Amino acid sequence: MKLVLLGPPGAGKGTQSVVLAKTYNIPHISTGDILRESVKSAQPLGLKAKSFMDKGELVPDEVVTGIVVERLKNDDTKKGYILDGFPRTLKQAEELDLALNKAASTIDMVIYFATSPAVAIERLSGRRVCKSCGFNYHIKNIPPKKEGVCDKCGGTLFQRPDDTEATVRNRLKVYEDQTKPLIDFYIKKGSLKRVSGDMGVDELFKVLSKIFSDAKLA
Ligand SMILES: [Zn+2]
Repeated sequence: MKLVLLGPPGAGKGTQSVVLAKTYNIPHISTGDILRESVKSAQPLGLKAKSFMDKGELVPDEVVTGIVVERLKNDDTKKGYILDGFPRTLKQAEELDLALNKAASTIDMVIYFATSPAVAIERLSGRRVCKSCGFNYHIKNIPPKKEGVCDKCGGTLFQRPDDTEATVRNRLKVYEDQTKPLIDFYIKKGSLKRVSGDMGVDELFKVLSKIFSDAKLA
């Protein structure tokens, strides 16, 4: 079960990935996480990525792809994996395809979380994060017992600067511009499934389980 989850920020890909990874016992590979790990463990590609990040520049596609491809060589990916946040550009998708072809492998299914901007904005602008332990809350959906205070550790909750409504609108616009060609790429390959990212976690999980069993992936 080799999956790619596509969708704008606020589509719920991260949350759904955690549930799917647990259910199907396959690793959830988030680009942000493996990029940070690679930098921290000072792997050659990680150091290369760091040199761009230190200058405040975007890490080039081939470096990001290289780090993901390295990660996919781990033994824990034999049964499958969930790629979350990658590929993000057409170039990354093409490079991933080439690398997988070389390894006689392929992505089984690409799931596109079509999400209305209003829902994404509501989810992201309501998000609050604990300064001390990093736990995520939502002012409506997952409120802390006491406003502004973390249930787990008593730390102070704050809103990330890129979660403010104006920034979220901009992130959604950037995402849409970057991702349109990617969606077309996977439609042509016949691997794209579209689901509604507006659904709640449990409801969407049921829809996905049915898609996987219909496709005989699980
Ligand atoms: Zn906390």
